[in-house]
Amino acid sequence: MPVRDNLERVSGAIRDACRQAGRPDDAVSLVAVTKTWDADAVRPALDAGHRLFGENRVQEARDKWPALKARYPDVRLHLIGHLQTNKTADAVALFDAIETVDRPKLAAAIAREQARQDRRVDCFVQINTGEEPQKSGVAPGEAASFVRHCRGLGLTVAGLMCIPPVDREPAPHFAFLAKLAREQGLPQLSMGMSADYAAAIEQGATHVRIGTAIFGPRKAPRAAAAG
Ligand SMILES: *Cc1c(COP(=O)(O)O)cnc(C)c1O
Repeated sequence: MPVRDNLERVSGAIRDACRQAGRPDDAVSLVAVTKTWDADAVRPALDAGHRLFGENRVQEARDKWPALKARYPDVRLHLIGHLQTNKTADAVALFDAIETVDRPKLAAAIAREQARQDRRVDCFVQINTGEEPQKSGVAPGEAASFVRHCRGLGLTVAGLMCIPPVDREPAPHFAFLAKLAREQGLPQLSMGMSADYAAAIEQGATHVRIGTAIFGPRKAPRAAAAG
């Protein structure tokens, strides 16, 4: 299906999920995930009026988005993938939100770049809700102290983000993230992808990150270099 139709269908499903959860229709922002898709694939979403996008790699976003942003200046970009500290300057320059803040060294680098560039980004602290050893994110038990640390550095901590374990029922992870955010007084929750966004909205998601349901299946992933 064309991207425009997919966007309409997903937006409708988000509204339905909001109503079912007794939440306002506009309670949830759709972050359209464009990783692996080139500018030509992204443009139909822009032409349809969509403006909020997610990328998981700084270099890929740098190759793709400056030209598109020149044409659509009100675009907003969220970084949703692991951020290497040495790419922080580029990330702060290009993105409006960094959803994957997960360690003190990175938090300090973001604070430094914000001061140097006189620019602010919204930060989400990524929580490793499944405590998976191979996965990025702060352990749930360290969430409170890490959020405090980030705030102490002057970061704008907007909320929490998680990616539940692939082989598990996601709803309990979403509910757990929502509880952690409430405890920290954080208003925003980035959770839910193509397969599980309705469940995430039911648990309080304010941002859902959706790629496949809008742009179709991605081709084989690129070489594993992060960033
Ligand atoms: C790729 C990705 C998504 C989107 O996943 P889909 O299943 O294609 O909707 C969401 N969040 C993160 C962190 C991702 O890397």
